[in-house]
Amino acid sequence: MTTSFAQRLQHLPPYLFAEIDKVKRALIAQGKDVINLGVGDPDTPTPAHIVAALQRAALEPGNHQYALDQGKPALRQACAAHYQRRFGVTLDPDTEILPLLGSKEGIGHIHLAFVNPGDVVLVPEPGYPVYHSGTLFAGGVTHWMPLTRARNYLPDLSAIPADVARRARLMFLCYPNNPTATIAPRSFFAEVVAFAHQHDILVCHDAAYCDVYYDGVKPPSFLEVPGAKDVGLEYYSLSKTYSMTGWRVAFAAGNRDLLAGLAKVKSNLDSGIFGAVQDAAIAALTGPQECHATLLAMYQERRDVLIQGLRACGCAVEPPQGAFYVWAPVPQGMTSAQTTMTLLEQAAIVTTPGNGLGPSGEGFVRMTLTAPKERLREAVARIQKLKLYG
Ligand SMILES: *Cc1c(COP(=O)(O)O)cnc(C)c1O
Repeated sequence: MTTSFAQRLQHLPPYLFAEIDKVKRALIAQGKDVINLGVGDPDTPTPAHIVAALQRAALEPGNHQYALDQGKPALRQACAAHYQRRFGVTLDPDTEILPLLGSKEGIGHIHLAFVNPGDVVLVPEPGYPVYHSGTLFAGGVTHWMPLTRARNYLPDLSAIPADVARRARLMFLCYPNNPTATIAPRSFFAEVVAFAHQHDILVCHDAAYCDVYYDGVKPPSFLEVPGAKDVGLEYYSLSKTYSMTGWRVAFAAGNRDLLAGLAKVKSNLDSGIFGAVQDAAIAALTGPQECHATLLAMYQERRDVLIQGLRACGCAVEPPQGAFYVWAPVPQGMTSAQTTMTLLEQAAIVTTPGNGLGPSGEGFVRMTLTAPKERLREAVARIQKLKLYG
C-alpha cells in the first residue's frame, strides 16, 4: 500500500516551528516556567453573553439539522449591520455577505474558485501561511510581495513585473498586518483598487484584526475605498474581535461574483456553520460591545508593558498599530532564528522567528500580547538579564 502524500502536500513548506516546539516541550518537561508569546490565540474567554446565547441556541432542535450553506439570513443581516456601523460600508446581506467556518477556511478555499493551474497569486511575506497553501492546492504559482520596514510594510506594487501582473489572478493583503502589526492607509487601498482594475486581479483582503487596534485609531476596511467592491472581497473574523477562535465563525464581504465562486466551492465541501454558533455570532455582533472595549483596553495595557520594557532593554521596537503582535528587531549580529532559540533556551520565552513567516521577516521576532501583563513583565525582566541589546 502506497501512502506517500500527493505532490500538493509534499510542496507545502516544512513545519518551521517543529524545532521550537521540541525545545519548548523539553523545557516544560524539566519544570521550566515557559512564557508562550508564540501563538496568536486570545487567552481570555469568550464574553459570557455570547456563551449564554450558544447555550440557549443549542437547545433549539432547529439548530440540530444541516445549516443553510449561506448562513441564516439573520446572521448575514448582523454582519451587514456591523459593516454599516463600523465602516460606513453598505452591503446587501443576501449577495454581499458569505458566512464562513472561520476566515482561514474562506482564505484557503477561494483559490479553488478562481485560480487555474499556472495562474499567479500575489502573496505578502512575511505573512499568514494559508495564502500560499491555497495557491499550492489549486496548482497556482505564488509571487511573493516583500513587506519591509522601509516601505511601512506595504507591498511595492510597482515592483511586480508586468508579465507577473498579467498572469496574476488573486492578490492577498492583510491589514492590520500579521505579523508586523501595521495598518494600511486608505490611500494604499486606493492604489490596490487601481492596480487590480488595470491588471484584472481579484483582491482578497484579510481583515482578521480590523477590530483589534490601539489608542482609538480604527483601521479602515478595504471596502471603504471607492471601487473596492468591484475588484475584491474582505474576510472579517469574530475570532480575534470577540476571543472566539475555537468557535469557527467569520464571513466574507464584498464582490458578489467572488462570493458566489467561494460559495460554490464551499457547498461541495461543507454544509454550513452549526446553527447555535450562528446564533451566538449574531449575539456577538448585535449585543453589548463593552466586552470589546474591555478587550482593547487589556491589549493596550499589555502593549505598553511589553513595548516600554523592550525599549528599556535597548530594543528599538515600534508599538503595534493593530493586531496583538509586537514585531521586535533582533539584537545586532543575531539572526531571527538565533534570537528565538536564545530567548527559548536562556529565558524560557517562546517567540516566532520573523523569517519563519517569510524571508523578509529576517531581522525580527514576533511576540504576542496574548499573555497577562504580569507574564509580559516577567518576560521583559528575563530579557533584560540576558543583555542581548547591549
Ligand atoms: C487568526 C488569523 C486568521 C484566522 O482567523 P479565523 O477566522 O479564526 O480562521 C486569519 N488571518 C490572519 C492573518 C490571522 O492571524
